[in-house]
Amino acid sequence: MAFWDEKSLEEMSPAEWEALCDGCGRCCLIKLEDEEAGLLITSDVHCKLLDGDTCACTDYPGRQKQVPDCIKLTPQNITEIKWIPTTCAYRRLAEGKGLAWWHPLVSGDPQTVVDVGVSVKGRTFSELDIAPDDWENHAVDWPEWEPPEEL
Ligand code: SF4
Ligand code: SF4
Repeated sequence: MAFWDEKSLEEMSPAEWEALCDGCGRCCLIKLEDEEAGLLITSDVHCKLLDGDTCACTDYPGRQKQVPDCIKLTPQNITEIKWIPTTCAYRRLAEGKGLAWWHPLVSGDPQTVVDVGVSVKGRTFSELDIAPDDWENHAVDWPEWEPPEEL
């Protein structure tokens, strides 16, 4: 049985925990607050440390020093953070859904995250290139899209 089916999130080793990330980059998009509606809206503007083409953090070990808002996911906080995408592997496992068919650990190919449309690859702008006043014009709903559960 695969480790993600066998173990709880609490039981996973640091390496297993890291391997669960599908590399979609959705959690690295800037959120906009709609105070009236009490909502957080996702934008297509990404954190200054995200590489928009590889969807990798360019300073993963030092990320929290450089970006104090960057949240380190844990088995405890994954169910508490409302804006974590429903496609996120950690959230899915915490909700008992298992990994999706397009997850690289299941498909065996990191490209399936891109092909299925979950990855933010090539679809975002760096916060360094967009003035904060303009972020509201970058509100998008596509990062909340979910692929079908089966092929
Ligand atoms: S949303 Fe989840 S799976 Fe996607 S990059 Fe963030 S932590 Fe990884
Ligand atoms: S610091 Fe890295 S992991 Fe954190 S939001 Fe930015 S790109 Fe993502």
